[in-house]
Amino acid sequence: MERKLAKPKPQHNRPSWDEYFMEITELVSRRSTCLRRHVGAVVVKGKRILTTGYNGAPSGLKHCSEVGCLREQLNIPSGERQELCRASHAEQNAIIQAAQHGVSINGATIYSTHFPCVTCAKMIINAGIKKIIYQQGYPDQLSEQLLQEAGIELKKMTPVKLTLAADEPKARGKVK
Ligand SMILES: [Zn+2]
Ligand SMILES: [Zn+2]
Repeated sequence: MERKLAKPKPQHNRPSWDEYFMEITELVSRRSTCLRRHVGAVVVKGKRILTTGYNGAPSGLKHCSEVGCLREQLNIPSGERQELCRASHAEQNAIIQAAQHGVSINGATIYSTHFPCVTCAKMIINAGIKKIIYQQGYPDQLSEQLLQEAGIELKKMTPVKLTLAADEPKARGKVK
């Protein structure tokens, strides 16, 4: 008897690898406690996630969302005087996580919701990361200059849309 295979269902909108990792990066950014922008970063090598990070205060310290942020109070423009904020950046946290767990990120790709600032750019270069995939720009010219000089591959993606059931007010609190 001839067995017939089930008819294939119409193709769902299967994400590409870049979309897949960027959607996860977007999800990671939702843990951010920054009063301004929520940034997420995911370090990937050989299609595997090695580390993740979002912008927030160092472990165990109070977040800007709890005690306020001096940059916000002083109305400091985006991209300037980052040392006044208690948070560390998403890219930094992803790199630090690799150090903490002894994971080599040499040769890896970093997915980030935003283009890195100059401090993160320097750390990315020295961590041996070879490629940056991002979706939002960031006002830091020196950063781009240094990354280009270091031969880091830069790729801008069109922002992925991430809609979660948890975003709908009705769904909140009902999740089992
Ligand atoms: Zn802050
Ligand atoms: Zn940064």
